[in-house]
Amino acid sequence: MKTFELAKKYNNWVIDKRRYFHQYPEESFKEFKTTKMIKEELKKIGIKIIGTSKTGVIGILKGGKEGKVVALRADIDALSVEEKTGVTYSSKIKGVMHACGHDCHIAMLLGAAKVLFNMKDYIKGTVKFIFQPAEEIAQGAKFMIENGALENPKVDCIYGMHIWTYEEHGKMVIEEGSIMGSGDIWTINIKGKSCHGSEPWKGSDALSCGASIIEKLNTIAGKMNDVRHPIVINIGTIKAGERFNIVAGEAEITGMNRTFTNYERENLPKTMEKIIKNICEVYNCEYEFKYEFICSPMINDSNSTKIAKDAVAKVIGIENITGMEKVMGSEDFSEYIKYVPGAIIHLGAYNKDKKCFYPHHSNYFNVDEDVLKIGVASYAQIALDFLNK
Ligand SMILES: [Zn+2]
Ligand SMILES: [Zn+2]
Repeated sequence: MKTFELAKKYNNWVIDKRRYFHQYPEESFKEFKTTKMIKEELKKIGIKIIGTSKTGVIGILKGGKEGKVVALRADIDALSVEEKTGVTYSSKIKGVMHACGHDCHIAMLLGAAKVLFNMKDYIKGTVKFIFQPAEEIAQGAKFMIENGALENPKVDCIYGMHIWTYEEHGKMVIEEGSIMGSGDIWTINIKGKSCHGSEPWKGSDALSCGASIIEKLNTIAGKMNDVRHPIVINIGTIKAGERFNIVAGEAEITGMNRTFTNYERENLPKTMEKIIKNICEVYNCEYEFKYEFICSPMINDSNSTKIAKDAVAKVIGIENITGMEKVMGSEDFSEYIKYVPGAIIHLGAYNKDKKCFYPHHSNYFNVDEDVLKIGVASYAQIALDFLNK
């Protein structure tokens, strides 16, 4: 129970830090002051800084004994959201807000660094503290990996934590396997032939072609995909046509796909292209299909999840750990999982009495700060248990 006792001791310090970061939010890849502040705090704690780039920073703590390397990750960016909570520590930056709770992640990981520093002689191995920028645009994890976050020393296992207003305060949500969706974006450009609206047979109608494509794409999820593995194809925009009496010569459709498995993720663009190609042929149109793989599904490794579950049970008791209802939204922590085993867990922060019940990214979003100590202790306990077992 030592980690929780220490976390409780640092509780006010962690809440202070969270409120500071909350007041000065910075958007993705603009986390300059945040990075500077994290570095200063890490130095004060006694954590060595080994990796730093324009934004984001990595701290390292070597334990008293040789051993494996565990990484703990916190994302640090905020959103372009205007805060309306009215709390005393509201954002001082107009139009920018920590509306996803990443301010809490920074404070909790700094708290965990304090706890683990305090216990360092007892640690068998090394802890890496990864403060990652730009999660909200799903580019930060990739950026940190490209900058060597998982090397020197090589990471054996990585853990992340996300504060979660969809679960009651005091609970931790831990689930192995696929828990969050992938997120990939695409654009279809259709090129037909414009002509007078009274003589459509003389042209190629890109607009009607696009409409047919949309209709067919909407049947993939129910008719062509194994429905036991849910997918979402969201058609977000269509732009076509100039005037009511002109046949549209061009059309552009954009959208985003979500899947829970890599198999569906890789197959979707192939199925889509088959449809696009055939319908374009019928309409005598040409097409260009651009597909960008952005974020893979978040799949928690079974063994890493078990270690996390046992560790968190030491902090809050097994009765306070719940399973997770899958979320179709994405989390770029999945990038790390491509290279090393690991898991991300979710810390319940919903509290009706404290009005902490708004969804993430809402301008009324807030969390029950009393749970931060659970996050701090859990981060630390997971690292200890992974290294010392
Ligand atoms: Zn978010
Ligand atoms: Zn988030």
